Amino acid sequence: MTTAHQLTFDGRAFIGGQRVPARSGAVFDCISPVDGRVLTTVARCDAADIDAAVAAARAAFEDGRWARQAPAARKRVLIRLADLLLAHADELALTETLDMGKPVRYAKGVDVHSAANCIRWYAEAIDKVYGEIAPTPQTALALVTREPLGVVGVIVPWNYPLLMAAWKIAPALAVGNSVVLKPSEKSPLSALRLAELALQAGLPPGVLNVVPGYGPEAGAPLALHMGVDAIAFTGSTRVGKQIHVMAGQSNLKRAWTELGGKSPNIVFADCPDLERAVDAAIGSICFNQGESCNAPSRLFLEASIKDAFLERALPRLARYQPANPLDKDTVMGAIVDRAQLDTIVRYIEQGQAEGARLLAGGQAVQPVPGGFYVQPTVFDGVTNDMTIAREEIFGPVLSVITFTDAAEAVRQANDSIYGLQAAVWTRDLNKAHAVARALRAGTVHVNQYDEDDITVPFGGFRQSGIGRDKSLHALDKYTELKTTWIRIDSPW
Ligand code: NAD
Repeated sequence: MTTAHQLTFDGRAFIGGQRVPARSGAVFDCISPVDGRVLTTVARCDAADIDAAVAAARAAFEDGRWARQAPAARKRVLIRLADLLLAHADELALTETLDMGKPVRYAKGVDVHSAANCIRWYAEAIDKVYGEIAPTPQTALALVTREPLGVVGVIVPWNYPLLMAAWKIAPALAVGNSVVLKPSEKSPLSALRLAELALQAGLPPGVLNVVPGYGPEAGAPLALHMGVDAIAFTGSTRVGKQIHVMAGQSNLKRAWTELGGKSPNIVFADCPDLERAVDAAIGSICFNQGESCNAPSRLFLEASIKDAFLERALPRLARYQPANPLDKDTVMGAIVDRAQLDTIVRYIEQGQAEGARLLAGGQAVQPVPGGFYVQPTVFDGVTNDMTIAREEIFGPVLSVITFTDAAEAVRQANDSIYGLQAAVWTRDLNKAHAVARALRAGTVHVNQYDEDDITVPFGGFRQSGIGRDKSLHALDKYTELKTTWIRIDSPW
């Protein structure tokens, strides 16, 4: 079994099947949030490296070394890649933990396993997706087929580095595209290793390129590149808006954005299982240190059950006090970096300044010297117009808001620029359906918050983004529809 101190990291880019430094020679430090130490230096790539990666991806696409392989052949390679991820699960999980601070138990059990499952699922799907023959008159045949786009640019965030990359590269590669992936500067290491494993699995050189660097220096040149056919982005709404502008400013590349959230979790007094609702509310805001786009950060409680709910909820926080994420029992790890920790602390201070009542937590702590950690934090007396209820904090900060009837709950829940996920807890089937239908969100949970599967689309309404990751629907983002008309002259 691999251990943390056995790991060494290679921070060079991966272009054309090879490890290369940035053309400028520049590097930046990759700092572990676990204890603040420098793990390695990483290539600080810029437009010149993006040009090289796009050229490699374009050459690979045009000569058909991947795109023109039979779907069953692409399937075999991607299944080998999924197997290799699992074979390296310990190494990849430790990499993820050291790089961005999540508990190693989840890095392995959730991130690495889900990434492997995602790659396997699209591999398995790709030789089962058929084109169409349209019901046209007898004088012609119209074939409707799906074709790969060419070169797909992928930009991902740091909260699930390997998994977010897998959600995009798996469908993009399965249909035959070449990819240039820019991981977050805060967590670049697992994506670089993924590219090495893909080569080992048999993916031809140039088909998957990974170019680390900062957003404005490496991400923007990718989004603006005239040789990139689509840009698939996961990250903040602020940057997502820029991605659409850059796509329009350049070659009108297809732009798909999966963005932020401020998900409402509505608990009615007739909730069928208050204990389960409490576990879900606390467990989900603490999962991944609250650094999840779909974290249910606005907890709407029917006023009559607020006290009973909080009485049960606050003791649950003891389990989620931050600890060393390399310890296998830890469930709440480190915040990704000093800047994000400062952001969370600023929001906590703002919540207090605007009149919310701090019920628990609120402090940065250091269970590991040099690391970045914050206590799980609960605010009561929040109103939906407060900053902590409107803006995505991306930390373990829960805002409790009360309501008196379903209409008020739905109105407040929908009063947000976001629309990623939502939940409703009630034993009344009619109310569950009516509220689920009224909520403006890409996913609505009823009487649970944990279900998730590669088979269902993931994405949001409104400013939570455009398009969907996962499921067969994601294939739409990485293919163009083509109609081919064939004239048929009757011989009689
Ligand atoms: P971010 O927007 O700061 O960065 C995301 C990526 O974009 C990074 O790789 C970054 O380097 C790059 N980037 C930054 N500026 C850029 C620019 N000007 N041009 C091109 N690229 C640029 O987001 P983050 O802090 O890394 O991630 C957190 C955000 O991601 C949260 O808002 C979260 O909700 C969202 N997220 C959404 C989903 C989803 O599926 N909807 C999933 C995970 C995370």
